[in-house]
Amino acid sequence: MKPIYLDHSATTPVRQEVLEAMLPYFSETFGNASSIHRFGQSAKKALEDAREAVAACLGAKAKEIYFTGGGTEGDNLAIKGVAHANRKKGKRLITSQIEHHAVLNSCKFLEGEGYEVTYLPVDRFGIVEPAVLEDAIRPDTTLVTIMLANNETGTIEPLAEIAEITKERGVLLHTDAVQALGKIPVDVEELGVDLLTLSGHKIYAPKGIGALYVRSGSRFDPIIHGGHHEGHRRAGTENVASIVGLAKAVQLATGEIPCVAPRLAALRDRLERGIREKIAHVHLNGPPERRLPNVLNMSFAFIEGESLLLNLDMRGIAVSTGSACTSGTLEPSHVLAAMGVEPSLAQGSLRFSLGRDNTEEEMDFVVESLIEIVQRLRQMSPLYAQEAGGVES
Ligand SMILES: *Cc1c(COP(=O)(O)O)cnc(C)c1O
Repeated sequence: MKPIYLDHSATTPVRQEVLEAMLPYFSETFGNASSIHRFGQSAKKALEDAREAVAACLGAKAKEIYFTGGGTEGDNLAIKGVAHANRKKGKRLITSQIEHHAVLNSCKFLEGEGYEVTYLPVDRFGIVEPAVLEDAIRPDTTLVTIMLANNETGTIEPLAEIAEITKERGVLLHTDAVQALGKIPVDVEELGVDLLTLSGHKIYAPKGIGALYVRSGSRFDPIIHGGHHEGHRRAGTENVASIVGLAKAVQLATGEIPCVAPRLAALRDRLERGIREKIAHVHLNGPPERRLPNVLNMSFAFIEGESLLLNLDMRGIAVSTGSACTSGTLEPSHVLAAMGVEPSLAQGSLRFSLGRDNTEEEMDFVVESLIEIVQRLRQMSPLYAQEAGGVES
């Protein structure tokens, strides 16, 4: 059987249509988009067409889109950029405890510069309560940054409700929509956000490319200094090939939601049902309803997620424990911890993240493999013998 990839929240392959759209921009149309001559003008046209396309998919205007070197840079630019540009108004920011490290560590960095950051708690499903957010806003708060969907559990945050609050209080609202894009509708007007980060490699475009939407009129400073690119907000010769690929991927991903999302949800439900029916002592991490269609995060009691992951890998099945960024450390996931998941259960958690090429047969094979692996690992676990009283023959 060919390997089964269930780690699409970590990254995705570049899809054929995206690759084909990009190819001419490596060789034939190689110009520098800042050059005045015809080579430059062809590159410039591709760049601006891509900007139009990305904007249209998000309900934004072309001049509100800034291309970046990926989601991490987009989050850094949004957070540090807004904090720095508005520091005369105040040096206070609000985020949540379950953000991606690109957001959390940008906030930590600003704390080192004397900013104050509030890290909002979440409920047991990982949801930020809008009323708690409202209470945290002070007159000197300049930015609220809350992700649209969580990368470990798929939890979808109530951004539109949060936006009503930030709008009324005159605070800018940024959202990291890296995981949400292409899975649920992402429209900057419907969400009411002022800044929004997206990344190419989570939606079948290359790694190292992304974009930041900034509502016109919102003040933000650059974090990379150099030439006049991207309206003086992001210096560096534009990566035209990747930008063209990103635009193609955004168009495909957002256009395909009506057919892809239900298919992914059905596969995810098949996997979840199989696990629940055939394996005892499992727990869902995240809300049953308000989550992305392609993510399943489950804890298997009495086992280490790492051992599960390695045993699945030996059978050609690729999954993740927590986020790719925390794997390799023995620290339990900060997301599950914030949700109040017991450390021992958090250690036994796996994230399955599905993509467009996964099949029902693959889900069934994963369930069959898990049954065997979980049983074997539990038989070796002293905790299991004690607590579940369940030495299986
Ligand atoms: C992957 C990811 C990022 C980082 O994007 P890169 O393009 O890999 O830098 C940021 N936020 C979330 C939610 C992500 O899943």
